[in-house]
Amino acid sequence: MQTPEFDVVVVGLGAMGAATLYQLAKRGLKVAGIDRFAPPHDQGSSHGDTRITRQAVGEGVAYVPLAIRAQQIWRELEAQQDEPLFEQCGVLVMTSSATPTGQDGTPDFTENTLALARQFGIEHEVLDATQIRQRFPQFAPIHDSALGYFEPGGGYVRPERCIDAQLTLARQLGATLITGETVLGIDSDPGRVQVTCQNRRISAAKVVVCAGMWSSQLLGAPFDRLLRVCRQTLYWYQLAEPLIFPERSPSFIVHGASDEQTCYGFPPIPGEGSMKIATEQYSETSTPDSLDRQVSAAQSEAMYRDLVLANITGVTPQLVKSAVCAYTLTPDSHFIIDEHPRLANVTVVSACSGHGFKHSAAIGEALAQRLVDGRSEIDLSAFSLARFDH
Ligand SMILES: Cc1cc2nc3c(=O)[nH]c(=O)nc-3n(C[C@H](O)[C@H](O)[C@H](O)COP(=O)(O)OP(=O)(O)OC[C@H]3O[C@@H](n4cnc5c(N)ncnc54)[C@H](O)[C@@H]3O)c2cc1C
Repeated sequence: MQTPEFDVVVVGLGAMGAATLYQLAKRGLKVAGIDRFAPPHDQGSSHGDTRITRQAVGEGVAYVPLAIRAQQIWRELEAQQDEPLFEQCGVLVMTSSATPTGQDGTPDFTENTLALARQFGIEHEVLDATQIRQRFPQFAPIHDSALGYFEPGGGYVRPERCIDAQLTLARQLGATLITGETVLGIDSDPGRVQVTCQNRRISAAKVVVCAGMWSSQLLGAPFDRLLRVCRQTLYWYQLAEPLIFPERSPSFIVHGASDEQTCYGFPPIPGEGSMKIATEQYSETSTPDSLDRQVSAAQSEAMYRDLVLANITGVTPQLVKSAVCAYTLTPDSHFIIDEHPRLANVTVVSACSGHGFKHSAAIGEALAQRLVDGRSEIDLSAFSLARFDH
């Protein structure tokens, strides 16, 4: 039997793949990373200048250690690369509905966030509607029963820079980067995994697949049943003069009564004079090939009318730029990080569902620990495929 060329091959070098490749290279493994484009790029799920990061992650308790560790890694990377990656401007999570509790009686996202902050001792403040209006006049009008959670340690990370920093360091540590090469298939033989690309075949002892929205296209069952791609749109609107929406503003999430009334956004990037805002849609499903990458004037007008005017002041309807990005969603909106059910020595990572970036640096580290030491310091068992067995 031939010795595999690499210890590990990472397929897909977006948020998850770049972090995994870097962490494996850091541990001295012989690694290669392959991507169909040249990351960081704007074709997947990791572009658009900014991603919210917060420690009390309302999505669930399993994510909190990942979010905390990832923030530490961004700081470590900044020190090595001398480039800002993590802007600690704080994050403000608000309910905008009169009924902050979910329809089925479960606590809503803001309440979940608060409970986790208390559980993990994460620094935060609870604000009522009057306090939000006084302290952050850019977020108004808000329903009088609004509840605000302010986490000063949160903020945003720069996704393209984070990916670039980790790929640069991985290369410096000896990783082989193959870009502009699409992986067409993966086969597991005893003792090695064969990766078939458009122009070459590569063998590795282990493979990690971080293919984002292309995962089901590449892997087939059961991922084609579990993963759904939803188009999302991002908008940057020009700020009004004189400035009401200040540069020193927190990242924010407004949780409305429905997905359509929910939005999130960022403070202006210094010098750019615009602020980015987005909403989430889960009703229309796309494929990577059918994804409509154009944002129409009608979509921008609707966004401004329905979400900017309803929640924010100090922003004009003048669209500075827009982008289309994609969520890859699982049925329960939680990540999949697990062994492939049929291909030995292949790990599959689908850590999106719209909330993965903030964790990516720590997921890469945990995966590297798992591949090298057999276990990770942070427990990833909540993300196993077994939960979908029934
Ligand atoms: C609009 C939007 C807003 C978001 N906001 C937030 C936020 O505020 N906070 C947060 O924490 N998260 C957020 N997320 C989620 C986060 O961005 C994603 O979880 C994360 O970027 C997913 O990274 P990934 O590595 O899985 O996918 P990607 O970054 O898309 O990487 C997949 C890579 O695989 C490559 N690839 C695919 N197939 C192949 C193949 N066959 N051969 C070779 N290469 C291949 C692709 O080219 C791509 O580079 C948001 C996502 C979107 C879309």
